Amino acid sequence: MLTAQTHSGTIFSLGKEYNKETLMFIRKNEKFFCPACGERVSLKLGTQRIYHFAHRSGTVCREFYEGETIYHMKGKLQLYQWLERQRIPVELEYYDSIIKQRPDILFLYDGKKYALEYQCSPITEEIFKKRTEAYRQQNYIPLWIQGSKHLKTKRNSVFSLSNFDYFFFRKTEESQLILPSYCPEEKQFKILSSVYPYSIKNAVANITYHSLENTKLEEVLAPQINNYFSFAKWSKEMERFTLNWSLHPSPELHRFLREIYIHNLNLYLLPPEIGLPVRHSLFIQTPAIIWQTYLFLDVLLNKTLYELVNLKEVERNYSKRIMNNEIIIRNIPQITNEKSFHAVKEYLFQLEKLGILIKKTETVFQLQTKISVPKSNREKEERRNEFHQKYKTILETINEI
Ligand SMILES: [Zn+2]
Repeated sequence: MLTAQTHSGTIFSLGKEYNKETLMFIRKNEKFFCPACGERVSLKLGTQRIYHFAHRSGTVCREFYEGETIYHMKGKLQLYQWLERQRIPVELEYYDSIIKQRPDILFLYDGKKYALEYQCSPITEEIFKKRTEAYRQQNYIPLWIQGSKHLKTKRNSVFSLSNFDYFFFRKTEESQLILPSYCPEEKQFKILSSVYPYSIKNAVANITYHSLENTKLEEVLAPQINNYFSFAKWSKEMERFTLNWSLHPSPELHRFLREIYIHNLNLYLLPPEIGLPVRHSLFIQTPAIIWQTYLFLDVLLNKTLYELVNLKEVERNYSKRIMNNEIIIRNIPQITNEKSFHAVKEYLFQLEKLGILIKKTETVFQLQTKISVPKSNREKEERRNEFHQKYKTILETINEI
């Protein structure tokens, strides 16, 4: 921790840049206490690259457990000083006695109070949600920034994201979905955007780098995002995933495969219209290829040409799959006013652009073209090439949905 209480009860913060001699003098003449548990803490001025307070060994403190790493303290200090340089009213490790929580950094910006949590170690979903909710109730905007070391790049533009990583997603005022992270070693923010998961663990995404020195708070809250999205990349990763996945099927996959066999389908001969990237698909943990196949089976397969497709019917079937645990939705604690069904609607709009559906009213579509299922690998190959050509033209509008 970077703050402690002095004997007289005032808060002493290491956020101000003191030199070592001054701190050694202060240490000799002052006693420090943990603001949370009241136990004595020591001012550490050792060889570690960051000065900090630590509980004396044997103390059990709920607020500051010894899990706080140098990496975390360094990042917290840098972010604090960065905000201060921008003349933003800011407080380090401020303790809110009503909710009994201590965000790493509290700041006031644009008339709003922000509680910044710079999170470097995994915490449970329950704690993450509890803290986020408590901040909201006290009218703080929760701002979780992840330690960049957690960000796992698999390949160029392909990231491996855990459930925990997804907690950090926020929605900007321009409705962009971003995952902000910060690296104290490189002194830069790394922000993921345009995230399109193709499996439970992996996603195609854009990453942008913003050096601490040249970046303003506004650019982290609402970064200028390049919406570039490579469908070719997505398809390639999707195919690789499907192949891998079928070679090592999980119990959920077995269930899925059994169901599609009943309908005379197989994983390698699905039509190219199934498994499309949609912007809100990160709200569904189940891979796009599965939930879109279910939608095809439940609603589209048995419709005759020009038959109506009611959104209510789609939603009913979708909810049923969720109830049966065949589709798993993903809760993102910082984005509460968003439903996963948004992704399904986006998919229907894409089918509309592809000429499969036509929108009749706000809630009713009409089947315009039946999605045909390829009968052979060769046919699949042809259908796919044809589809890619066609799909390119609708891609330009993909981010407007
Ligand atoms: Zn304590």
